[in-house]
Amino acid sequence: MFWTSALVALMMLVASAGDLKRSKIAALPVVVRVHERIELPGILVLQAEDNASRIFAGAGLDVRLERAGRSRPKQKAHYIDLTICDTSEGYYAGALGLARPFRPGGNQVEILYPRVRPIIERREAYAGRILGHVFAHEIAHVLTQIPDHSSEGLMKAKWDSDDFRKMAVEYLPFDARDIAAMRSTVMGWTNDNLADEKDTEQRPAVADCAVLLSSPRTCSGF
Ligand SMILES: [Zn+2]
Repeated sequence: MFWTSALVALMMLVASAGDLKRSKIAALPVVVRVHERIELPGILVLQAEDNASRIFAGAGLDVRLERAGRSRPKQKAHYIDLTICDTSEGYYAGALGLARPFRPGGNQVEILYPRVRPIIERREAYAGRILGHVFAHEIAHVLTQIPDHSSEGLMKAKWDSDDFRKMAVEYLPFDARDIAAMRSTVMGWTNDNLADEKDTEQRPAVADCAVLLSSPRTCSGF
C-alpha cells in the first residue's frame, strides 16, 4: 500500500513538473517578423499586424507581429518570418499568400500583395482588418502545421463577399480543430526552437520571394 501511494505521489510530482515545463514553453510568445519587399502605407501594415495579433489572442495564443528589425532586443520567443511580396501572374496563381508549415526558420509566410490589393481597394474602410485576416490565415498554417482548410471561418480555402463583409465587424473564427492544433504545436516546441532576436538576425534574410519556389512543401493559402 505504501509503495502504491509513494508511486502515485512520485508520478504526480513528475507529471506536475512536466506540466510546469510545458506551461512555461506555452507562455512564450510567437513573434512574427514582418518584412516588406514592396512599399505599403505604414498605417495599413500596423493595422494588419494589430488585427492579426487580436485574432490569435481570441484563440488564447500570444502571437506578436512586429516589423522586422524593430523587435525588442534579446526577446526569447519562437520566430516566424512573414514577407509581403510582389508577385507575377503565374506564381501560385490565385493565391493571396503561401505558408510553409514545416520549414524551420527563415521565411515561412509570403503575402502576395498584388492579389490582396484589389480586394482591399474596394473595402478601404476596413483594409487593415482584411489584411490582418490574410496574415493570420497564413501564420495559422505554420502554427497548425496543417496545410488543408476548414469549411467556414478564418481557415476557409476561399473567402467570399459575405466573409469580407463580416471582417468589417468581427474576426472570422478558427474552428476547434485548428485551435487545438496550434496549441499543440506551441506546447510541443522545445528549447531547440527558441531563439532570440540576436540569433535570428544571423539567419539569411529573405531577399527575393521567388527563390522559395524550390521549397517542396508549399501550400496555397486561398
Ligand atoms: Zn490556407
